[in-house]
Amino acid sequence: MRPVRPTKPKKLNGAPRARGSRPVKPTPKLGHRNLRAAAAVDEIAGKRAEWEAAIADAKKAHDRLMEAIDILPEGIVFLDSDGRYILWNKKYAEIYNRSSDLFAPGARLQDTIRVGVARGDYPEAAGREDAWIAERLDRLFQPSGRHEQRLSDGRTILIEERLTGDGGIIGLRVDITELKQREESFRLLFDGNPVPMIVCAKDGGRVLGVNEAAAQHYGYSRAAFEQLSIRNLQAYESEPPWAGQQSDEEQAARTWKHVRADGTLIDLAIYSRHLVHNDEPAVLLALMDITERKRAEARLAFLAQHDALTGLPSRNLLRQKIDDKLTQMRRGSEKMAVLVLGLDNFKSINDTLGHAVGDRLLRGVGKRLRSILRQEDVVARLNSDEFAIVQGGQARPEDAAQLSRRLLEAIADPFLLDTNTVTIGATIGIAMAPNDGDDAEKLLKNADMALSRAKTETRGTFSYFESGMDARAQSRRRVEMELRDAIQNDVLQPHYQPLIDLATGRITGFEALVRWPHPERGMIPPSEFIPIAEETGLISALGRAMLRQACGHAARWPDEVRVAVNMSPLQFRAGNVLSLVMDALKQSGLPASRLELEITETLVLEKSGQVLATLHALRALGVRISMDDFGTGYSSLSYLRSFPFDKIKVDQSFIRDLAANREAQAIVRSIVSLGKGLGVTITAEGVETEAELRCLRAEGCHEAQGYLFSRPRPNAEIIGLLQAQRDAAGGSSPGNAMVA
Ligand code: C2E
Ligand code: MG
Ligand code: MG
Repeated sequence: MRPVRPTKPKKLNGAPRARGSRPVKPTPKLGHRNLRAAAAVDEIAGKRAEWEAAIADAKKAHDRLMEAIDILPEGIVFLDSDGRYILWNKKYAEIYNRSSDLFAPGARLQDTIRVGVARGDYPEAAGREDAWIAERLDRLFQPSGRHEQRLSDGRTILIEERLTGDGGIIGLRVDITELKQREESFRLLFDGNPVPMIVCAKDGGRVLGVNEAAAQHYGYSRAAFEQLSIRNLQAYESEPPWAGQQSDEEQAARTWKHVRADGTLIDLAIYSRHLVHNDEPAVLLALMDITERKRAEARLAFLAQHDALTGLPSRNLLRQKIDDKLTQMRRGSEKMAVLVLGLDNFKSINDTLGHAVGDRLLRGVGKRLRSILRQEDVVARLNSDEFAIVQGGQARPEDAAQLSRRLLEAIADPFLLDTNTVTIGATIGIAMAPNDGDDAEKLLKNADMALSRAKTETRGTFSYFESGMDARAQSRRRVEMELRDAIQNDVLQPHYQPLIDLATGRITGFEALVRWPHPERGMIPPSEFIPIAEETGLISALGRAMLRQACGHAARWPDEVRVAVNMSPLQFRAGNVLSLVMDALKQSGLPASRLELEITETLVLEKSGQVLATLHALRALGVRISMDDFGTGYSSLSYLRSFPFDKIKVDQSFIRDLAANREAQAIVRSIVSLGKGLGVTITAEGVETEAELRCLRAEGCHEAQGYLFSRPRPNAEIIGLLQAQRDAAGGSSPGNAMVA
């Protein structure tokens, strides 16, 4: 209900006083005096009209004022210097609708307040009514002031009061209930939010407020937290997260490192929003802890750059590190060596002991290499059995050599892997920067080239890159391609070298030795392409072709003549030797007893169950097994225990100068007596002179092979050779008859 409106404002700017403005009614009189009286009456009438007009104006002005203050959205009240009501608008009456019957011009605000307090309109006054009223009135007469007042119906009113020039009071009332509710929900949203949030002063970063999640996340009490500044949280001195102009995306992309109360570091993505907090420019920070994500990312990055098996840097990372070092080198006078270390015969360990053991061995090798290097040196895994080592500092060639020796020694110690004791050798190729290359790729390539060379020439040692290796490597690649073609087109052919029984002087058989008739280079000896065939895997096809041809040829020789075929250890590792041999025998019709397989010590050295089983199976077929190049390995004798060989071929290095060399004689003598003891045929390789032959006869050697009797010859000549032998039978010394 609309309150009683004041019709005669006591005080109003610019408005005339209403009191005493009532017009006086004139009394009629006659005569001269009457005339004057009449004039006075007229004058009074005139004045009255003026007053009435003035009153009408004032009323109009008042009404306009009332209309004006009524449309204000705030409640407004005018009080005089005693705190009595003069004027108020509709909104004011609406806000205090419970008290509106108490509003009357001249009534005192404090009486209205007292009634309200007595009725319990102001919950904050409960229990301390008098004190509350005194405070309220004290505020009323302050020059200006602002406070919030809660009403018992749940509303909150913002009160603003100011003294006017004549000691009166203008009061404004705004219903801020909704605002308060919104603030409250914001508080709840902030306080109860599971996302850690901090409000900071925009200027200086002082923490103005934190929510529970933030307090817990950082491990501070809220009170302690609110003593800090954002800078205290940052792990590194840096701008606060809201500094600078950043788009939301940019902000999301940036991450921050903060320190928690316990000193642990966390990674954060921080989203910030500007706001005003207690009249101060502030920033609301929402914090996303991305420590786990970062960790996962770092792990992925690590995996991308490291070898999963050994944890060592991968080739990619190594390249980066080498290039970094090269850049440093260009600035200073540093030198650098790049070593590529290849494990010898790793594949056979993998094949025979299984991949699990192979993996463990690689891990062990990686660890040993790492343990020998200095912190600033780098070791990486390049591929299955190759590691690279970057020696920094002032590495000179002699330092690289010293390091290589230490690395090789370390690898040479046996590895104990579960129940297996595994011994493996290694070979190293070295490239020196900047002489041998000024980028990572080139250095690695050249070190690798030095390794290939060392592998074929001085396995188990190290070798430096030399200019010209590149050209050699290229020619090697060319040989590889041509060899592939030659094998495919069946160009390779065996030549045969006879084996002579020294007791009878008769040919007991022939050793098949592969020959490559090259259109430009003539007959290429096996030493030039067997190692390449072994490295590239072409040896399987080559070996199969030789076996097939040798069996085919021998099948047409006289029944008592055998054929010996050389087998590469790699063929055994491929695991199909038995079926290969059976196929060749079947196709050619050659009886197994006429086939001999020559294997080298390296094969027996592996002592793998699979290789031994294959050898036994071959023997069970009737195939004879010879140990080739006996004496060149370093523990040849022990190999004889691992398999019952049919024949031992003494390497030609022992036969050379046999006549003059007493030690060589002693060795041959003991091998011969060993052979007799074991029931094994002893064959001397590379016999070139009659003197050597005499010695061998004197020592009781069973069999011989060499240029003295014949060079290896094409199959076409074999039948003729055998015929000549038959013709010469019973004639002079077989040796003489055989010289090519
Ligand atoms: P090897 O099995 O020890 O063969 C004997 C080598 O000594 C042959 O060399 C032969 O020509 C040579 N030789 C024979 N008598 C004399 C002599 O009186 N003086 C000298 N200085 N040398 C003599 P070749 O044919 O060059 O073969 C070299 C090696 O290549 C062979 O050594 C063998 O290990 C390998 N090889 C040859 N053919 C094959 C094959 O078909 N398969 C495999 N896996 N290896 C083969
Ligand atoms: Mg041989
Ligand atoms: Mg040999």
